[in-house]
Amino acid sequence: MCQRCSSDSESINHILFDCPLSRSVWRQSNTIFSGSQAQDNSLEENIEILLSRYDQSTSKELQHLPFRICWQIWKSRNALIFNKEKLSTDEVIDKAKDSVNEWLTAISQDTRVQPSGQLCVEQRESKWIPPPSDFFKINVDGSFHLNNQYIGVGWIIRDDHGVYRLAGCSRLIQAY
Ligand SMILES: [Zn+2]
Repeated sequence: MCQRCSSDSESINHILFDCPLSRSVWRQSNTIFSGSQAQDNSLEENIEILLSRYDQSTSKELQHLPFRICWQIWKSRNALIFNKEKLSTDEVIDKAKDSVNEWLTAISQDTRVQPSGQLCVEQRESKWIPPPSDFFKINVDGSFHLNNQYIGVGWIIRDDHGVYRLAGCSRLIQAY
């Protein structure tokens, strides 16, 4: 049973797309699912939409945001279950936007003008190291609940340009 809405079983599709709280995040973020659109789909269909809306012609922020929203929805679900921390729709979206900006800052050159008027270009070190060309890299995040011994696992696949290709999550019950 989904512990966020208590109205449906907790599948990955429900957590990321179908839960009323997730629907609210998608609606308010105005990214790929707007209005009452889409979330009645299967997980595969929703992932398909997620990837098909990826458009190289849009800004970097908009390219990354839907995937970061998925990730933050997953993290907000873990925060509620494991830390009893309830995040609002706005907080989830803000965290997703912040992480996009952090990511883009980390992988780009930081250019700024010093007080003297001199242009300063600083190469910032990226925390995330891309895989070799034509390879994908998978990053995994997990959390563990001491009382009921649940383990939550989330993962994201990125290509060698740092572009998100697929993401998922699941709960492993009764870890020993
Ligand atoms: Zn729910």
